Amino acid sequence: METKQTDLIIVGAGTAGMTAAIYAQRAGKHAVMLEALSYGGQIINSPDVENYPGMAHVSGFDFATALYEQAKGLGAELCFGKVLAIEERDGFKVVKTAKTEYVCRAVILATGAKNRPLGLEKEQQFIGRGVSYCATCDGAFYRGKTVAVNGGGNTALEDAAYLADLCETVYLIHRRDAFRGDDRDVEKLRAKSNVVFVLNSTISELQGEDRIRAVTVKDKYTEETRTIPVDGLFIAIGQMPDNTAFADWVELDAGGYICAGEDCHTKTPGIYAAGDCRTKSVRQLTTAASDGAVAALAACQEMDRD
Ligand code: NAP
Repeated sequence: METKQTDLIIVGAGTAGMTAAIYAQRAGKHAVMLEALSYGGQIINSPDVENYPGMAHVSGFDFATALYEQAKGLGAELCFGKVLAIEERDGFKVVKTAKTEYVCRAVILATGAKNRPLGLEKEQQFIGRGVSYCATCDGAFYRGKTVAVNGGGNTALEDAAYLADLCETVYLIHRRDAFRGDDRDVEKLRAKSNVVFVLNSTISELQGEDRIRAVTVKDKYTEETRTIPVDGLFIAIGQMPDNTAFADWVELDAGGYICAGEDCHTKTPGIYAAGDCRTKSVRQLTTAASDGAVAALAACQEMDRD
């Protein structure tokens, strides 16, 4: 097992984690961001971000890459590995992955959240066979075809807009008639002739043998069902956190989010929570970046007091 020393371990290199790295490096501390796969977090899949202050339009990929380059340029490191455990040793925190243990003075958990599945039969089997959770990654496979997007948040609205420019028809299936996502984006979609709104409806079945061929949709008031033939289904029904590995160190709420206030402190001194993984009411790029700054500055101040 390799051992590595650093000031600050940041678990997750999404917007919150990379912002934390920038602030820690600028405060003179060395930060290591730990990621299972790659930097970027959820925003890397957003085709067009229109609500980050000062940037009228930016792709999620460009935004995340610029953040990464900024953190790296300041001296932060990105290392790969899934965190298996955190331990306390001689006044230091030890963050363990399969191959390396990182000995540090503070930890920021910025684990974000992962895509929520519908939980339907065949959903897992059809991933890569018509079922996708990422329109920017997989949309091009459906050029000129018919797809459905399920969800009513900003992700579903963005996905539907992106797919409408590629596909023949996009069914936007949402369980209510009001949207959680921005009104402006709903209006843009209503203006597109190839977007069909299927409201107050849930998907009750995925049809097909080798791949998805259609979805069964149930109206929540009449309980009537109908079949909508589709070549692809993009599921965008929100995220869920994945913080069970840290349950000994932080309190989790009923939904699995880390209990921490706006100061990003958890119940354990030296462990902070930032971004979408923590309990909060507004999960946006701006609030993720804000948390990253708050958590990093709190951690650095604590280190300076030691
Ligand atoms: P979200 O805002 O939580 O929306 C999830 C949507 O899926 C809701 O409309 C919800 O319906 C629906 N839903 C949840 N569970 C469902 C189920 N089992 N079956 C059917 N529908 C279900 O998730 P999101 O759109 O992924 O966005 C997550 C966060 O990221 C939000 O804060 C969002 O604003 C933010 N975001 C920001 C940007 C941006 O800034 N450009 C882009 C994308 C996302 P109800 O409305 O009925 O609950």
